[in-house]
Amino acid sequence: MRLQNLEINGFKSFSKKTTLEFQNSIISIVGPNGSGKSNVVEALRFVLGEQSIKSMRGSSGSDLIFKGSKTLPKSSRASVTIYFDNSDKVFKLFQEGKENINLNYDTISISREVYPDGLNKYILNGTEVRLKDINNLLASVNIGSSHHHIISQGEADRILNASSKDRREMVEDALGLKIYQYKIKEAGRKLERTTNNMKEVSLLRRENAPHLNFLKKQVDKFEKAKEMQVSLLSLYKEYLKKESIYLNKEKSNLFNEKSRIEEELENVKHKISSIDEVNEKKESEKEKELKILEEKIHGIRSVKNEIERKLGRMEGMIEMEERRKEQTPEIIIKNPEEIKAIFEEINSEIEEAMIEENIAEIKIILLRIKEILNNVDQHKSVMEHSSSNSEVEELRKNQQKILDEMKKIEDEEKNIFEKVVDLKSEINKENEALHLKEKEKFNYRVKHQELTSSLNLISVREEGLKREEETFENEIKEGGALIGGEILSYKNFETDGEINRNNQEELKRKIERIKIKLEDVGSSGGSEIIKEFEEVSQRDNFLAKEMEDLTKSIESLHALMADLKEKIDIEFKEGVKKINVEFTNLFSLMFGGGSAHLSLVTENKRRKGEEGGEVEDEEEIAFEQGIEINVSLPHKKVKELNALSGGERSLTSIALLFAMSQVNPPPFLVLDETDAALDEANSRKYGDMLEKLSNHSQLIVVTHNRETMSRAGILYGVTVGSDGASKLLSVKLDDAVAIAK
Ligand code: ATP
Repeated sequence: MRLQNLEINGFKSFSKKTTLEFQNSIISIVGPNGSGKSNVVEALRFVLGEQSIKSMRGSSGSDLIFKGSKTLPKSSRASVTIYFDNSDKVFKLFQEGKENINLNYDTISISREVYPDGLNKYILNGTEVRLKDINNLLASVNIGSSHHHIISQGEADRILNASSKDRREMVEDALGLKIYQYKIKEAGRKLERTTNNMKEVSLLRRENAPHLNFLKKQVDKFEKAKEMQVSLLSLYKEYLKKESIYLNKEKSNLFNEKSRIEEELENVKHKISSIDEVNEKKESEKEKELKILEEKIHGIRSVKNEIERKLGRMEGMIEMEERRKEQTPEIIIKNPEEIKAIFEEINSEIEEAMIEENIAEIKIILLRIKEILNNVDQHKSVMEHSSSNSEVEELRKNQQKILDEMKKIEDEEKNIFEKVVDLKSEINKENEALHLKEKEKFNYRVKHQELTSSLNLISVREEGLKREEETFENEIKEGGALIGGEILSYKNFETDGEINRNNQEELKRKIERIKIKLEDVGSSGGSEIIKEFEEVSQRDNFLAKEMEDLTKSIESLHALMADLKEKIDIEFKEGVKKINVEFTNLFSLMFGGGSAHLSLVTENKRRKGEEGGEVEDEEEIAFEQGIEINVSLPHKKVKELNALSGGERSLTSIALLFAMSQVNPPPFLVLDETDAALDEANSRKYGDMLEKLSNHSQLIVVTHNRETMSRAGILYGVTVGSDGASKLLSVKLDDAVAIAK
């Protein structure tokens, strides 16, 4: 790696684009005072990322831009570009958490621009990058940001004036440990970010915790309710299935029983009405027939009586006729048979009247008796007037006719009487049958009564069943409200068929107990709560995982930092040892004797000790260690740096700077009039050291010293033109000496 070119444009006194080529290991820049030599050195500082404007002798970024002259306008921006040869691909870009990548360019160009408003731009091979990237890139080639290898004018003894801590930084930088420091800083930043993240995550978790706990409790409650619902469902399935079987069976039993009773009742009613019908019919027909026959007998009896009376009269007349023929006609009514017949007739009428209760009938009988008595009177007159035999015969013929008639009537009477007797016996029989039927009907009535009360009982049972069915339906509704539509799956429940009411009661009690508990817990909105709980706990798990990752990452960052610190510590101590060897050699060479060395001091501890404070962090103290420079001049007792002369200070600084540069050669060293205070002898020694150093590092020296100029391969003369801007020209040694004056 080598410096190739430096392009300065609009920077400070350089109005136009000016290029310095570094084709030799020692380049000397010469020129009169105020020509702009130091501006070249500052251009180098600038492009390498210097952040202190003050160190570039300005108060703001705009001070770095060419301000214009009488003939030249001011520049719109200052721009400096530096080119490095990267054919050996040493430039690396540090990547956080990854392998550093080697930049594959043969030439690395770094540009920095500053604008009047103070805005800065950093460009790496044409691409705008961050300052961090530039620092990172330069650190990979041992160009640290402390810029210890750029010694500005008047800063020859900067390292002597610096604090022990700053010195340590310069030494670390010189030893190439900056890259580790940079990594530690990066790790520190990452640690801070990670710690902040962790705080945020932990805060989020803490904020989520009460909600999560609440949801967890709700979910537990819901799960308990779910368990209860499951057992409730299983109880319900058995209970409802058995209950439905029981109700159906009861219903069908009642229906069958009712139908049977109704049928039986219908039957009984039918039996009763048919008995009534038959009885009524039979009674009226036979009675009517009997009445007719009795009336007929009655009629026959009247006719018979009439005939008997006629016959009596006839016999009387015949007797009277015969007696008249033999005796006197006065004996007619004294015939005893005739009188006997009349008496018998009257007697029979009276007997009849005596048994008759009906007055109307009795009257009829009395009328008939009256008629008989009238007839006796008539008969007497007839008897008085009949006289002849022929008349007797005629009478006898009539008598016979009447007797025949009588016979006929009596036959008829007998016939009818037989019929009456038969009919009566029939009626009797029928009455007996009727009686039996009545008895039967009574039994049916009792049965009817029994069946009706059974039907009433069935109605009561039907009512009861209806209530049970309502209870069943309500149970399904209530259960459904608690466990949902699944309750209807009881229909598919397989039961062993045996349904015991006591067991059902027991099941019902269990169901009621769970229902009460479930209503207490409440089961609504469970699915949303579970969903929310899952989301929140997923988030919490995610955060917990993140906490774990962050903790691990913090641990590994701590470990990385500790490793890096240890590495720095070891390499630093070794480096200091090596520097001390070179330092004391160069020192004694410069001063013709004496010795010098660097020693480590624990600045922080001392400081804290002075303040009386307690030391808290051992590690912090280790890194607060500073460096002190100890010198021992030949033939002098003076050891304090403050007591050294200007020249002595310059020599000591140069010895130290060169020692550091030899132990770990920087790619280039810029020395702005570092030799200003040297006498001729020391100037030679200085020149020798330059040559020695140039074996490993490029040297850019600004000087007025001829000895120094003589060691340079390329000499650039800087002058101020008539336009008031700095100009650069390549010169020969003799010209350079002339220009420098
Ligand atoms: P010496 O030998 O005395 O150290 P030098 O050659 O190092 O001098 P510099 O310090 O580099 O000189 O240059 C200083 C000059 O640059 C001053 O004359 C100053 O006016 C000029 N200068 C500084 N900043 C600007 C600027 N922004 N615009 C124009 N000129 C500037």
